[in-house]
Amino acid sequence: MAQHITRRRLLSTAGATGAWLAWAAAGNSAHPAWASPGFPSDPFTLGVASGEPRADGVVLWTKLAPEPLAADGSGGMPSRVVPVQWEVATDPAFRNVVARGTERATPELGHSVHAEVAGLEPAREYHYRFRAGPEVSPVGRTRTAPPEDSDDGTLTFALACCQNYAAGHFTAYEHMAAQEDLDLVVFVGDYIYEGPGQGDIGRGQIPPREIFTLADYRVRYGQYRSDPRLQAAHARAPWLVVFDDHELDNNWADEVPSDDQPVEEFLLRRAAAFQAYYEFMPLRKLSEPKGIDIQLYRRVDWGRLAAFHILDTRQYRDPFACGGGFSTCPEAFDPNRSILGFEQEDWLSRGFRESRAGWDFITQQGAFVRRWVDKDGELKLKMDAWDGYVASQQRVTQAWVDAGVRNPVVLSGDIHSHWASDLKLDYDAPDAGIVGSELITTSISSGGTGEDHVPGVHPIFEDNPHLRFYTNLRGYVLNTVTRTRLQADYQCVRDVEVPDSEVFRRASFVLDDGVRGLRQIYDGPSSTGIAAPLLSGVERISAIDDLIAWESDDEQVGS
Ligand code: CA
Ligand code: FE
Repeated sequence: MAQHITRRRLLSTAGATGAWLAWAAAGNSAHPAWASPGFPSDPFTLGVASGEPRADGVVLWTKLAPEPLAADGSGGMPSRVVPVQWEVATDPAFRNVVARGTERATPELGHSVHAEVAGLEPAREYHYRFRAGPEVSPVGRTRTAPPEDSDDGTLTFALACCQNYAAGHFTAYEHMAAQEDLDLVVFVGDYIYEGPGQGDIGRGQIPPREIFTLADYRVRYGQYRSDPRLQAAHARAPWLVVFDDHELDNNWADEVPSDDQPVEEFLLRRAAAFQAYYEFMPLRKLSEPKGIDIQLYRRVDWGRLAAFHILDTRQYRDPFACGGGFSTCPEAFDPNRSILGFEQEDWLSRGFRESRAGWDFITQQGAFVRRWVDKDGELKLKMDAWDGYVASQQRVTQAWVDAGVRNPVVLSGDIHSHWASDLKLDYDAPDAGIVGSELITTSISSGGTGEDHVPGVHPIFEDNPHLRFYTNLRGYVLNTVTRTRLQADYQCVRDVEVPDSEVFRRASFVLDDGVRGLRQIYDGPSSTGIAAPLLSGVERISAIDDLIAWESDDEQVGS
C-alpha cells in the first residue's frame, strides 16, 4: 500500500518529465539552435543504425557524440540544438537518393536522432547516412519489409541477446554482419549490464561501478556502442530490440528493484535508464519514454510470411513468486499473477487471432519452456522465467492453440546458453502433444567463453523430454524462414575471451510449415571434440551444479 502511494506521488513528478520529454522528442528544446555546427572531432563515433522495418519505411538512428565517454553524459556536445540531415539511396555511393530530411538533435534527448522514414518501396535494400555541419556519418545498409500480402521469398534473421562488454569480445557480431543474406537482427535484452562488470580481459566497464544516473547510463551505452563489431551489426541490417533486466537493474520486476534500493530512488533510476535506452536504440518515437513508462510491446509484420509479437516481460510483471530463485511454492501457480500484465496478455491473444502470418514469432526475454531443474535433490522451477508465472505460460500457450496459429515459435534469450525445445500445454502428461517450439539464443558474451555440452547426456533432458538441445557456448541463432520451412542454425564462438576466435555452426533444427516439433538436421562436433561419456552419479551432480551456476541470480554470473 505504501508503495502505491509512493508510485502516485512519483508519477506526478515523472508525468511532468514525460510531457517535457514528449515536447523534446518533437524536436523542441529549451536550448538555442546551432545553425552552423562545427565539431572538435568526429561526432559520429557511435555509428549508425536502423530498426522497426515496415513495407514502406524504417527508422534511421544516430547520436552525436564526439566524446561518447564524457562523464557528464553529454557525449562532448554543447547544450545546443543541432540540425542533422539524413538521406536514403538505392546505392552505397548515393547516386540515386530517394529520400532525405532533417531532424533536430536536442540536448534533452542526448542529441539522438530517430528519423522515421516513409515512402520507400517494399522488400528493398537501401543505404543511408547522416550529415551534421561539415561531418558525414558512416553509411548504413537497411531494408524494408515485403508488401503486406506477400509470403514469398526468404527472411533471414539473427536472434541475439546478453552482451556483457567486460565478459567477452563481440566476435559473434562480426560473423553475423558478414552473413550476405541477413535481413534483420532481433535482440531480446541485456544490451548493457548495469553492474561493475565481469571478467578480466582488458574490457573493463566505464564507469567501473554499478550505474544509477542518466549520465551513467549514457556513458555505459556509449562504451558498448563504441565497439566496432556491434556497430558493424547495426550498420548491416535493421534491428528489432526489446530490453530485459540489465538495461535497468538485475532482476527488476515492475516497480520492485532486486536490491534494497528505496522504491522512490529506483523509479527515478528506472526513468533515467529508459530514457538512455530510447536515446541509443533505433525505436519509433511512440517508444519515447514517458517518465517511468516506455511502450515496447508491439507487433512487426514481415509481409504475410512472419509476424513478430514483441513482448515486454519486465514492466508489467508481478513480483517474483516464492522469494525468487528456484522453487515450486503455490504462488508460482497463482492464476492471478502475470508476467505480461493482463492488458498485454489480452493484446497478445488478439494478435494471435488477427494474425495471417505463416510464422508467428513470440519474441521476448526469458525461457518460456517448462524446465524442471534438480536443485538439492528436488525438482524446482526458475522463478525469473515463465516457469515462475505458470498461469501466464499456460494462458499464452492456450491462446495460440485456440487461435489456430499456423506456426507458433517462441524466440527467447536470458539464460546465457543455447536451447531448442518443443512446447506443450501440459508438460507433465507424457502423451501431451507438441503445440509449438522455442529457440533460445545464448549470450553474445555474457558469462565468458563457457563450454560445450554433448547433446542428450545432460541430466536436465531426463527430467524434461521436451528439451531437445543445449550448449553452454556464446553466439547467436541464425534463422532462415520461407513459407514452407524454418531453419535455425545455432552458431557458437569457440572462445570470446580472445579477440579473434572461430565461429562455427553447432547444431541446426528445422520446422516444417504446419508440422509441430523440431527436427534436428545437423549435429556438429562439440568444440572440445570429446566423445560423449555416460555420466556417473557424481558427474551428473556436478553437471547440474554447472547448469545452475550459469543461471544464478548473482550479478557477476547473472543472466
Ligand atoms: Ca536477463
Ligand atoms: Fe543476460
